[in-house]
Amino acid sequence: MPHIDNDVKLDFKDVLLRPKRSTLKSRSEVNLTRSFVFRNSKQNYSGVPIIAANMDTVGTFEMAKELCKFSLFTAIHKHYDLHQWKEFASKNPDCLEHVAASSGTGPSDLEQLARILEALPEVRYICLDVANGYSEDFVEFVKVVRKRFPQHTIMAGNVVTGEMVEELILSGADIIKVGIGPGSVCTTRQKTGVGYPQLSAVMECADAAHGLNGHIISDGGCSCPGDVAKAFGAGADFVMLGGMLAGHAESGGDLIKREGKQYKLFYGMSSDLAMRKYAGGVADYRASEGKTVEVPFKGPVEGTVRDLLGGIRSTCTYVGAAKLKELSRRTTFIRVTQQLNPVFGAEGRT
Ligand code: 5GP
Repeated sequence: MPHIDNDVKLDFKDVLLRPKRSTLKSRSEVNLTRSFVFRNSKQNYSGVPIIAANMDTVGTFEMAKELCKFSLFTAIHKHYDLHQWKEFASKNPDCLEHVAASSGTGPSDLEQLARILEALPEVRYICLDVANGYSEDFVEFVKVVRKRFPQHTIMAGNVVTGEMVEELILSGADIIKVGIGPGSVCTTRQKTGVGYPQLSAVMECADAAHGLNGHIISDGGCSCPGDVAKAFGAGADFVMLGGMLAGHAESGGDLIKREGKQYKLFYGMSSDLAMRKYAGGVADYRASEGKTVEVPFKGPVEGTVRDLLGGIRSTCTYVGAAKLKELSRRTTFIRVTQQLNPVFGAEGRT
């Protein structure tokens, strides 16, 4: 008989962070840099643990160049060739510690990844990304990559439950990507009925990962700086962003001009558009699980990054966390039925 899990699972929109008494005088006192030692690679990390998603509209070299000025990280999408990687590396050697090379599970993906990592030993991170991290094939793939690159830090996903987080960590991954269905251009929940509310997924998966000295990325579903703060509060070590970083000068995607306004195209990596671009179309046996949208052009990403980091610093002062590291320990979520005052809708400038 089908089973129903009656525990209520929550999304970012279902909670707010409760303020707490604090000795902090100003948000400028808050340190957002985190340091980690990864379980399997044994490598050290230091940076502001926010990651641009490995989508071809977001995880671009142009984005990496800007984000690394703030010590933010970029998962570079898998569609650049070795020549483009070498050019980026030679012009931006200081950014290489803040980027990952991405790969799917195809044999040609792995060979392309190997060519990049062998040519550029300064690239220390690998992002292994599949829509469904629950397959045995994926677990085997993680083992193969771990064996071939024993000292690289491996991010792998996506999953949403503790037992699969543990399996991937024990198979050699260091950082598990958590999120099925929350993405801004994801249609998995409509197409398949599968998913897991992101806040609960992060809390449960962080608990499983931390028990093994592993780490997690909350991937998808953040629509504003407050959501990013909630993901960290829930125990995420890293937060990955797609939509919030889309639509900027450094984002990929065509610039569209219409009636005096500018937009940038943003699409899911399993949308019709992406599959036409990279896989010659949507195969007969599958449905696209991503959509295409036009995002109003937002100019340079620097402004968005400052707004985001300012928001998280402010969260930390409200709950009395002098460092990002302390945020989850200082977090009490309260369940809410309304978050925002809707009187003026989305009108107005911030
Ligand atoms: P966002 O920050 O836009 O809410 O979510 C970004 C995440 O959405 C990505 O990192 C990736 O995990 C996920 N994603 C990107 N493209 C697709 C897609 O076409 N389908 C699905 N199901 N998820 C996607």
